Amino acid sequence: MKDSTEVLIIGGGPAGSTAAALLASAGRSVAVIEKARFPRFHIGESLLPYNAPIFRRLGVWEQLATHGFQRKHGAQFVFEPDRTASRLDFQNSLDRDLPLAFQVRRAELDQLLLDNARKRGAEVLEGHSVDRVLFEGDRATGAEIRDDTGAAKSLSAKVVIDATGRDTLLGRQLGLKRKDAILRQAALFGHFKNARMGLGPDGGDILVVGGEYGWFWLIPLDSETTSVGVVFPSRVLKEARKGDHGSALDVFERLVAQSPEVSERLKNAHPSRPVEATADFSYRCDQFVGDGWMLVGDAAGFLDPVFSSGVFLAMSTAARAADLVEKRLKAGGPVLRKHLIGYERFAKRGFERFRRYILAYYDPACVSVFASEPPAIIRRAVSSAFAGKVFQRDPRIWLMNYLFFTRAAQLRRLAARNKFQLPLAPSCR
Ligand SMILES: Cc1cc2nc3c(=O)[nH]c(=O)nc-3n(C[C@H](O)[C@H](O)[C@H](O)COP(=O)(O)OP(=O)(O)OC[C@H]3O[C@@H](n4cnc5c(N)ncnc54)[C@H](O)[C@@H]3O)c2cc1C
Repeated sequence: MKDSTEVLIIGGGPAGSTAAALLASAGRSVAVIEKARFPRFHIGESLLPYNAPIFRRLGVWEQLATHGFQRKHGAQFVFEPDRTASRLDFQNSLDRDLPLAFQVRRAELDQLLLDNARKRGAEVLEGHSVDRVLFEGDRATGAEIRDDTGAAKSLSAKVVIDATGRDTLLGRQLGLKRKDAILRQAALFGHFKNARMGLGPDGGDILVVGGEYGWFWLIPLDSETTSVGVVFPSRVLKEARKGDHGSALDVFERLVAQSPEVSERLKNAHPSRPVEATADFSYRCDQFVGDGWMLVGDAAGFLDPVFSSGVFLAMSTAARAADLVEKRLKAGGPVLRKHLIGYERFAKRGFERFRRYILAYYDPACVSVFASEPPAIIRRAVSSAFAGKVFQRDPRIWLMNYLFFTRAAQLRRLAARNKFQLPLAPSCR
């Protein structure tokens, strides 16, 4: 390993490998430090159509399209207990040229993206972890790196990009990480063989089933294997762990039993991966940039996965960060917070927009609008948001959101006057 590089990227997930590939393609010297050895399992398997332009930019679209990943054309929602069902088709969103996404095994996707960064000239060190980012005053100057024998070494850099995902290395080091005030959930997830799926064209739709207990995802990874997870208030997991039936599988099975839809779909299924747990995963860092450093992807913030936004946000923020870093390095001189602040605004806008839709999923009035076959114009807005159209300043989105949230407010008022019965919405805390 060399002693210095122009750009040091910590973490080789979708965010890190996107930034690395773009900066290395621009001719920058880039080092990626990844603590795992790929391929490795990762949760986050349902992608969005708006990922496609980034995959194209990275030059991996053809590879993805021919890899054999399950194609995803839409999403189906079921609301329990009355089992109201609704389907969003990406073809009905505002940008009809982005009708397709993939359901992926992350071990394979992440490997493909990291190999692409390597192919484009980034130096990638797997099995190496960063203990801490080094600073001179307020300015990041590199990092302390440990290899898998335990030997430590410093690497200096003009810019440090933290792409460590939910480990949030720099967010924790600088005390920037804040838990979401409303979204306080845990998740349990595993892979199952023989679940009853086959929804939508190519059988690739994600199924999201919500009820008072929280919500389930069922993501078809291929004709045999389905990724199944449940998101529910963290307190339920904490309470279960105090009792005798606190294993991840026990809690998972009890939640499945509360959902008639999921119970039916898993009736003949068996796990092919142990059920795992994670908790309190919605948070955001106060600052995304500083002198000589940036946070991208989950290292900046992560939100409840109900709209499968994680990988898309990770890659979009990383691509934007890479563009700005390249611009600054080309101009010469130091890379300071004032040069990077445009990125922070851009990234926070994407997080905020998704957060608004996510909170709507837990709001009975919004569920009512969504599940009651709303007018086509509102369905297009929801389909577009669900496809990932959150960064663009498109007046049509503004108008459609206005209609959606105004209708929800109207139903809330009617319900307050006992003139309308709101449905149950999934719990988030
Ligand atoms: C329950 C759940 C379900 C989800 N479902 C979806 C979904 O369906 N669709 C979707 O798009 N997203 C989903 N997500 C979100 C998705 O997993 C993430 O948003 C996405 O992986 C973020 O990519 P990233 O590159 O920022 O981070 P990661 O993919 O986590 O990559 C970070 C990398 O950094 C490495 N690293 C960490 N610390 C260090 C260190 N100190 N030194 C060196 N390397 C380090 C890690 O090993 C890892 O490889 C889900 C998340 C959860 C919790």
